[in-house]
Amino acid sequence: MSTGRTRALRLTRWGGPPALTEAARPVPAGEEVLIEVEAAGLCRSDLHVIDAREGDLPYRLPFTLGHEVAGRVVERGPTATGPAVGERVVVYGPWGCGRCARCAAGAENYCDRRTALDADGVGTGAGLGRDGGMADLMLVPSGRLLVPVGDLAAAQAAPLSDAGLTAYHAVSSVRPALGDDPSASVVVLGVGGLGHLAVQILRATTSAQVLAVDVREEALVLADECGAHFATLLRPDTAAVLRGRTGGVGAAAVLDFVGSDSSLELAVGVLRANGELAVVGSGGGELRVRKPGVLPPGTRVSLPFWGTLPELEAVVTLARKGSLRVRVAEFPLSGAAEAIARLRSDAVRGRAVLVPD
Ligand SMILES: [Zn+2]
Ligand SMILES: [Zn+2]
Repeated sequence: MSTGRTRALRLTRWGGPPALTEAARPVPAGEEVLIEVEAAGLCRSDLHVIDAREGDLPYRLPFTLGHEVAGRVVERGPTATGPAVGERVVVYGPWGCGRCARCAAGAENYCDRRTALDADGVGTGAGLGRDGGMADLMLVPSGRLLVPVGDLAAAQAAPLSDAGLTAYHAVSSVRPALGDDPSASVVVLGVGGLGHLAVQILRATTSAQVLAVDVREEALVLADECGAHFATLLRPDTAAVLRGRTGGVGAAAVLDFVGSDSSLELAVGVLRANGELAVVGSGGGELRVRKPGVLPPGTRVSLPFWGTLPELEAVVTLARKGSLRVRVAEFPLSGAAEAIARLRSDAVRGRAVLVPD
């Protein structure tokens, strides 16, 4: 793919479907870096983008989908920094202004100018209003957004940039409540694309007891394979069962990867006083914050979004050490439509990853 044309899965009109189109090979200008894509993850937020109606999202069309991307640097703009040509990398997906205090600290997910970037229709990330990586080639705005992955398999590396990073960031947000106390418990609600990674990250970076809940039997098997100490189906008595596993005191932290009314209700039912509730899933559930109210005294609630560059480096390190393994289902880039259809009908086991063919 060193010359000629490149294929890209582009959203050309609101309401989709996206189309695999051909374009000329991009040429990196300024500090841009051109990546030959080796793998691009497909996740439910892509479905939200594909299904959005005109006006739902602050993005301008057309753009190439794909915010979880791994590949190899093939060309650098004249002022590019970061990894050299030939290096294998994963792309940090949330793209902020690159200049504010948050961006300077590597937290472009919380860029102070995010609202302004949205208002300008600039887009705030790879595949999110700006050209992403479901393509043969991808132009990345700056080398600062690239993290080297060494010889990590591309299909493993790509999902780290969202599924892995978001799970890691969520774990970071509750880590203070867990401390080094091996009797502390953490509940993971939803053992899917993010949850199965959160279980592994918790086992690798904390000493807490990991209790997992899902509505699907096969997710409990996955939780077990990922190192959860206990996994159970969601039932009317699940809060009591989980409390029993914590010696009656409740969980120091809950990571809710679902975010529905029922998952939030369970979270409230198992939290220990002075605990942490991180709502990661966008399931549309609502939680009433009132004092006094349903939440135990001292509860801290967070709404973690994606993650930071230093955290992506930490996630890649965990994966390279073998402490983090993503369950993936590979599809060829030319079969993107089928991958999207299968994700939509819940028929993908693991993270769907598109590989240029
Ligand atoms: Zn995603
Ligand atoms: Zn910024």
